[in-house]
Amino acid sequence: MILVLLGPPGSGKGTQGALLKSKLGFEHISTGDMLRAEVAKKSHLGLKAEEYMKQGLLVPDDLIIAMIKNILSQAPHKNYVFDGFPRNVNQAEAFETMLNTMGLQVDKVFYFDLDDDVIIKRLSGRRVCPKCGATYNIYYQKPKNDTLCDNDNTPLIQRDDDKEEVIANRLRVYKEQTFPLIEYYKSKGKLFVVSANGTQEEVFEKLKSML
Ligand code: AMP
Repeated sequence: MILVLLGPPGSGKGTQGALLKSKLGFEHISTGDMLRAEVAKKSHLGLKAEEYMKQGLLVPDDLIIAMIKNILSQAPHKNYVFDGFPRNVNQAEAFETMLNTMGLQVDKVFYFDLDDDVIIKRLSGRRVCPKCGATYNIYYQKPKNDTLCDNDNTPLIQRDDDKEEVIANRLRVYKEQTFPLIEYYKSKGKLFVVSANGTQEEVFEKLKSML
């Protein structure tokens, strides 16, 4: 089964992708996480991608599509949840062609619906642990010890692209490039709308009931 999580930055795609992995055994493919790992490694791809990511812009489609092709061609018959991909209609079309040649298709697309004011608070308040990857929010989900990770006491950091000047760009890019995917998948009868308000558990329950 192939699922796609679609929605604005900060709508909880990463969290729900991780739950689909830990509770239901899906392979969780987050292009954002993969790119951040490449940036940390200072690989050729990472150095190229960093320029775009710093500004809140999309990394060029050909780099992303090659990354996805590489994963799928190695293990085409797993259950996948894609988080952050596809990000525009061009990527969605390339994805469809790629899947067709493997006899596969996108089964369901979950669109996480969330108001702009909540998105901004979720992004600007997000803090992450650089060691274990745990995510917190200074407004909604504070760590027990103010600025330290609950799991390992590591000082939490703010992602560069969660800084206010970059958030505005990411939201603009989302509206211009990613939002049209809602219509794209709706017209194919694959779109399921999930209200992204509520706790992680509540959203996950809704998601499961639609699976
Ligand atoms: P995310 O963690 O999904 O919010 O992604 C962080 C950043 O990685 C985005 O702002 C983009 O610069 C880049 N990125 C992630 N996924 C994609 C994608 N499918 N296409 C292009 N750029 C991407």
